[in-house]
Amino acid sequence: MDIESGNNLNEHIRVNTENIEKVLTSEYFIVHCDSGIETYLRQDDAEKIDDIKIYLDKTLGVDSNFEEQKIKAYLFSNKERYLEFMQKNYPNVPDGSATFDQKTNSVFAYSPADIKEYRGILGDDILTDQEVENIIRGRIFSIVAHESAHLHSPFNGVGNEDSKNKWEQEMICTFLEDKTSLKFDEKFDENIKRQAREYLANLQSDNEIFSWEEAGAKWDDFTKAERLVYSWLEKQYGLKKLQDLWSKMFKDKRTISEAVKEVYEKDIHHLEEEFQNEMLSSKKLFRKIEK
Ligand SMILES: [Zn+2]
Repeated sequence: MDIESGNNLNEHIRVNTENIEKVLTSEYFIVHCDSGIETYLRQDDAEKIDDIKIYLDKTLGVDSNFEEQKIKAYLFSNKERYLEFMQKNYPNVPDGSATFDQKTNSVFAYSPADIKEYRGILGDDILTDQEVENIIRGRIFSIVAHESAHLHSPFNGVGNEDSKNKWEQEMICTFLEDKTSLKFDEKFDENIKRQAREYLANLQSDNEIFSWEEAGAKWDDFTKAERLVYSWLEKQYGLKKLQDLWSKMFKDKRTISEAVKEVYEKDIHHLEEEFQNEMLSSKKLFRKIEK
Protein backbone atom coordinates (compact mmCIF):
# COMPACT_ATOMS: atom_id res chain seq x y z
CA MET A 1 0.00 0.00 0.00
CA ASP A 2 2.98 2.25 0.34
CA ILE A 3 3.55 4.25 -2.80
CA GLU A 4 6.01 7.00 -2.23
CA SER A 5 7.15 9.60 -4.62
CA GLY A 6 10.61 8.98 -5.90
CA ASN A 7 11.63 12.59 -6.31
CA ASN A 8 14.01 14.46 -4.13
CA LEU A 9 12.06 17.06 -2.18
CA ASN A 10 14.92 19.13 -0.97
CA GLU A 11 14.48 22.15 -3.24
CA HIS A 12 11.49 23.52 -1.34
CA ILE A 13 11.77 24.48 2.27
CA ARG A 14 8.65 26.23 3.52
CA VAL A 15 5.45 24.25 3.78
CA ASN A 16 2.23 26.13 3.13
CA THR A 17 -0.23 24.96 5.78
CA GLU A 18 -3.26 26.77 4.39
CA ASN A 19 -6.44 24.63 4.65
CA ILE A 20 -4.98 22.18 7.09
CA GLU A 21 -5.26 22.56 10.82
CA LYS A 22 -2.72 21.96 13.52
CA VAL A 23 -4.46 19.52 15.84
CA LEU A 24 -1.85 17.95 18.03
CA THR A 25 1.50 18.91 19.49
CA SER A 26 3.45 16.37 21.45
CA GLU A 27 7.01 16.12 22.66
CA TYR A 28 8.30 14.85 19.33
CA PHE A 29 5.56 15.65 16.79
CA ILE A 30 3.41 18.44 15.43
CA VAL A 31 0.43 16.96 13.60
CA HIS A 32 -1.55 18.86 10.99
CA CYS A 33 -4.53 17.06 9.52
CA ASP A 34 -7.88 17.42 7.81
CA SER A 35 -11.19 16.75 9.55
CA GLY A 36 -11.42 13.18 8.22
CA ILE A 37 -8.23 12.17 10.01
CA GLU A 38 -9.06 14.28 13.06
CA THR A 39 -12.16 12.12 13.65
CA TYR A 40 -9.86 9.22 14.42
CA LEU A 41 -7.42 11.02 16.68
CA ARG A 42 -8.15 10.97 20.41
CA GLN A 43 -7.17 12.88 23.52
CA ASP A 44 -4.45 10.46 24.51
CA ASP A 45 -2.93 10.28 21.04
CA ALA A 46 -0.16 12.78 21.86
CA GLU A 47 1.31 10.05 24.04
CA LYS A 48 0.62 7.39 21.43
CA ILE A 49 2.34 9.32 18.69
CA ASP A 50 5.35 9.92 20.93
CA ASP A 51 5.45 6.18 21.48
CA ILE A 52 6.22 5.90 17.77
CA LYS A 53 9.48 7.78 18.27
CA ILE A 54 10.38 5.71 21.33
CA TYR A 55 9.49 2.55 19.44
CA LEU A 56 11.54 3.53 16.36
CA ASP A 57 14.57 4.25 18.56
CA LYS A 58 14.20 0.97 20.39
CA THR A 59 13.71 -1.14 17.28
CA LEU A 60 16.48 0.53 15.32
CA GLY A 61 18.74 0.45 18.37
CA VAL A 62 19.70 4.11 18.15
CA ASP A 63 18.75 7.40 19.75
CA SER A 64 17.17 9.92 17.41
CA ASN A 65 17.18 13.65 17.88
CA PHE A 66 13.49 14.30 17.28
CA GLU A 67 13.28 16.41 20.42
CA GLU A 68 15.63 18.99 18.92
CA GLN A 69 13.49 19.37 15.85
CA LYS A 70 9.98 17.97 16.08
CA ILE A 71 8.63 15.99 13.18
CA LYS A 72 5.83 17.77 11.37
CA ALA A 73 3.20 15.38 10.07
CA TYR A 74 0.66 16.47 7.42
CA LEU A 75 -2.14 13.94 7.14
CA PHE A 76 -5.02 13.81 4.69
CA SER A 77 -8.03 11.53 4.46
CA ASN A 78 -8.81 12.67 0.93
CA LYS A 79 -6.45 11.82 -1.89
CA GLU A 80 -7.32 14.84 -4.07
CA ARG A 81 -6.67 17.23 -1.18
CA TYR A 82 -3.40 15.46 -0.40
CA LEU A 83 -2.23 15.72 -4.01
CA GLU A 84 -3.35 19.34 -4.23
CA PHE A 85 -1.41 20.15 -1.05
CA MET A 86 1.69 18.36 -2.36
CA GLN A 87 1.39 20.11 -5.74
CA LYS A 88 1.32 23.48 -4.00
CA ASN A 89 4.30 22.76 -1.78
CA TYR A 90 6.30 20.34 -3.87
CA PRO A 91 5.34 20.79 -7.53
CA ASN A 92 7.79 18.14 -8.73
CA VAL A 93 6.39 15.30 -6.68
CA PRO A 94 4.56 12.71 -8.78
CA ASP A 95 1.41 10.91 -7.63
CA GLY A 96 1.83 8.80 -4.55
CA SER A 97 0.28 8.39 -1.14
CA ALA A 98 3.07 9.30 1.27
CA THR A 99 6.49 10.88 1.36
CA PHE A 100 8.95 12.75 3.56
CA ASP A 101 11.19 15.80 3.42
CA GLN A 102 14.46 15.78 5.34
CA LYS A 103 15.03 19.53 5.03
CA THR A 104 11.86 20.46 6.90
CA ASN A 105 11.77 17.26 8.98
CA SER A 106 8.27 16.61 7.69
CA VAL A 107 6.18 13.65 6.68
CA PHE A 108 3.16 13.76 4.37
CA ALA A 109 0.53 11.12 3.88
CA TYR A 110 -2.84 10.29 2.52
CA SER A 111 -4.71 7.61 4.43
CA PRO A 112 -8.39 6.85 3.78
CA ALA A 113 -10.39 7.45 6.95
CA ASP A 114 -13.87 6.59 5.90
CA ILE A 115 -15.28 3.23 6.97
CA LYS A 116 -17.12 2.74 3.66
CA GLU A 117 -14.07 3.67 1.60
CA TYR A 118 -11.99 1.23 3.65
CA ARG A 119 -14.45 -1.56 3.16
CA GLY A 120 -14.04 -0.91 -0.56
CA ILE A 121 -10.25 -1.35 -0.25
CA LEU A 122 -10.48 -4.41 1.98
CA GLY A 123 -13.12 -5.88 -0.22
CA ASP A 124 -15.20 -7.64 2.41
CA ASP A 125 -17.98 -7.12 4.89
CA ILE A 126 -16.73 -9.59 7.48
CA LEU A 127 -15.18 -6.98 9.77
CA THR A 128 -17.17 -5.00 12.31
CA ASP A 129 -17.12 -1.19 12.24
CA GLN A 130 -14.93 -1.25 15.36
CA GLU A 131 -12.43 -3.50 13.62
CA VAL A 132 -12.36 -1.23 10.58
CA GLU A 133 -11.85 1.74 12.91
CA ASN A 134 -8.84 -0.03 14.44
CA ILE A 135 -7.46 -0.61 10.97
CA ILE A 136 -7.90 3.07 10.09
CA ARG A 137 -6.13 4.20 13.27
CA GLY A 138 -3.43 1.59 12.78
CA ARG A 139 -2.92 2.81 9.23
CA ILE A 140 -2.62 6.47 10.31
CA PHE A 141 -0.06 5.68 13.00
CA SER A 142 1.89 3.15 10.97
CA ILE A 143 2.25 5.48 8.01
CA VAL A 144 3.61 8.16 10.35
CA ALA A 145 5.99 5.52 11.74
CA HIS A 146 7.11 4.51 8.23
CA GLU A 147 7.77 8.04 7.02
CA SER A 148 9.34 9.11 10.33
CA ALA A 149 11.68 6.13 10.11
CA HIS A 150 13.00 7.65 6.87
CA LEU A 151 13.96 10.75 8.85
CA HIS A 152 15.69 8.70 11.51
CA SER A 153 19.36 9.28 12.24
CA PRO A 154 20.78 6.06 10.71
CA PHE A 155 19.37 7.14 7.35
CA ASN A 156 20.43 10.75 7.45
CA GLY A 157 21.65 11.79 4.07
CA VAL A 158 20.18 8.79 2.26
CA GLY A 159 17.51 10.95 0.67
CA ASN A 160 14.48 10.08 -1.35
CA GLU A 161 16.05 9.13 -4.66
CA ASP A 162 15.35 5.91 -6.42
CA SER A 163 18.34 3.75 -5.61
CA LYS A 164 19.33 0.44 -4.12
CA ASN A 165 20.13 2.26 -0.92
CA LYS A 166 16.61 3.65 -0.91
CA TRP A 167 15.27 0.13 -1.33
CA GLU A 168 17.36 -1.12 1.59
CA GLN A 169 15.95 1.72 3.67
CA GLU A 170 12.45 0.99 2.42
CA MET A 171 12.60 -2.57 3.72
CA ILE A 172 13.32 -1.33 7.23
CA CYS A 173 10.63 1.36 7.12
CA THR A 174 8.08 -1.19 5.88
CA PHE A 175 9.07 -3.58 8.67
CA LEU A 176 8.54 -0.78 11.22
CA GLU A 177 5.27 0.19 9.57
CA ASP A 178 3.95 -3.37 9.83
CA LYS A 179 5.02 -3.70 13.44
CA THR A 180 3.26 -0.44 14.30
CA SER A 181 0.08 -1.68 12.57
CA LEU A 182 0.15 -4.73 14.80
CA LYS A 183 -0.25 -2.54 17.87
CA PHE A 184 -3.61 -1.29 16.64
CA ASP A 185 -4.98 -3.98 14.43
CA GLU A 186 -5.08 -7.47 15.92
CA LYS A 187 -5.89 -9.02 12.58
CA PHE A 188 -3.02 -7.33 10.77
CA ASP A 189 -0.65 -10.27 11.19
CA GLU A 190 -3.24 -12.73 9.97
CA ASN A 191 -3.93 -10.48 6.99
CA ILE A 192 -0.35 -10.04 5.86
CA LYS A 193 0.29 -13.78 6.19
CA ARG A 194 -2.81 -14.53 4.13
CA GLN A 195 -1.63 -12.11 1.44
CA ALA A 196 1.81 -13.73 1.49
CA ARG A 197 0.29 -17.18 1.07
CA GLU A 198 -1.79 -15.97 -1.88
CA TYR A 199 1.30 -14.42 -3.39
CA LEU A 200 3.23 -17.69 -2.97
CA ALA A 201 0.41 -19.76 -4.40
CA ASN A 202 0.40 -17.61 -7.55
CA LEU A 203 4.14 -17.71 -8.17
CA GLN A 204 5.10 -19.41 -11.43
CA SER A 205 8.46 -20.55 -10.18
CA ASP A 206 9.84 -21.25 -6.73
CA ASN A 207 13.03 -19.40 -7.64
CA GLU A 208 11.40 -16.00 -7.75
CA ILE A 209 10.40 -15.74 -4.10
CA PHE A 210 13.08 -13.39 -2.89
CA SER A 211 16.58 -12.25 -3.70
CA TRP A 212 18.25 -9.25 -2.11
CA GLU A 213 20.05 -8.41 -5.31
CA GLU A 214 17.14 -8.64 -7.71
CA ALA A 215 14.70 -6.92 -5.42
CA GLY A 216 16.96 -3.89 -5.02
CA ALA A 217 15.74 -2.02 -8.05
CA LYS A 218 12.04 -2.14 -7.25
CA TRP A 219 11.81 -0.27 -3.99
CA ASP A 220 8.26 0.97 -4.51
CA ASP A 221 6.82 -2.37 -5.53
CA PHE A 222 7.21 -4.68 -2.58
CA THR A 223 6.19 -8.28 -2.92
CA LYS A 224 4.46 -9.94 0.01
CA ALA A 225 7.51 -12.14 0.54
CA GLU A 226 9.80 -9.12 0.67
CA ARG A 227 7.62 -7.69 3.41
CA LEU A 228 8.27 -10.73 5.58
CA VAL A 229 12.06 -11.00 5.33
CA TYR A 230 12.92 -8.84 8.33
CA SER A 231 10.11 -10.29 10.46
CA TRP A 232 11.50 -13.71 9.67
CA LEU A 233 15.08 -12.66 10.45
CA GLU A 234 13.96 -11.19 13.76
CA LYS A 235 12.06 -14.35 14.68
CA GLN A 236 14.93 -16.59 13.62
CA TYR A 237 17.99 -14.73 14.89
CA GLY A 238 16.71 -11.97 17.17
CA LEU A 239 16.40 -8.18 16.96
CA LYS A 240 19.96 -7.48 18.10
CA LYS A 241 21.43 -9.10 14.98
CA LEU A 242 18.99 -7.21 12.77
CA GLN A 243 20.12 -3.95 14.38
CA ASP A 244 23.74 -4.93 13.79
CA LEU A 245 22.91 -5.64 10.16
CA TRP A 246 21.31 -2.21 9.68
CA SER A 247 24.18 -0.52 11.47
CA LYS A 248 26.71 -2.22 9.15
CA MET A 249 24.68 -1.19 6.12
CA PHE A 250 23.97 2.41 7.02
CA LYS A 251 26.67 3.52 9.46
CA ASP A 252 29.58 1.49 8.15
CA LYS A 253 28.34 1.69 4.54
CA ARG A 254 28.79 -2.03 3.89
CA THR A 255 26.98 -3.72 1.05
CA ILE A 256 24.15 -6.02 2.09
CA SER A 257 26.26 -9.10 1.23
CA GLU A 258 29.16 -7.89 3.38
CA ALA A 259 26.84 -6.96 6.24
CA VAL A 260 25.10 -10.36 6.17
CA LYS A 261 28.45 -12.14 6.19
CA GLU A 262 29.71 -10.15 9.15
CA VAL A 263 26.56 -10.37 11.26
CA TYR A 264 25.08 -13.77 10.42
CA GLU A 265 28.40 -15.40 9.47
CA LYS A 266 26.97 -16.85 6.30
CA ASP A 267 26.84 -16.19 2.63
CA ILE A 268 23.89 -14.01 1.60
CA HIS A 269 22.65 -16.74 -0.77
CA HIS A 270 22.46 -19.19 2.10
CA LEU A 271 20.36 -16.80 4.10
CA GLU A 272 18.08 -16.25 1.11
CA GLU A 273 17.76 -19.99 0.75
CA GLU A 274 16.81 -20.40 4.39
CA PHE A 275 14.08 -17.79 4.01
CA GLN A 276 12.99 -19.32 0.72
CA ASN A 277 12.67 -22.76 2.34
CA GLU A 278 10.54 -21.40 5.15
CA MET A 279 8.29 -19.67 2.62
CA LEU A 280 8.07 -22.84 0.53
CA SER A 281 7.03 -24.94 3.49
CA SER A 282 4.26 -22.38 4.18
CA LYS A 283 3.31 -22.67 0.53
CA LYS A 284 2.96 -26.44 0.79
CA LEU A 285 0.98 -26.07 3.98
CA PHE A 286 -1.26 -23.56 2.24
CA ARG A 287 -1.91 -25.98 -0.64
CA LYS A 288 -2.85 -28.68 1.83
CA ILE A 289 -5.35 -26.37 3.51
CA GLU A 290 -6.74 -25.43 0.09
CA LYS A 291 -7.35 -29.10 -0.75
ZN1 LIG B 1 9.14 4.62 2.53
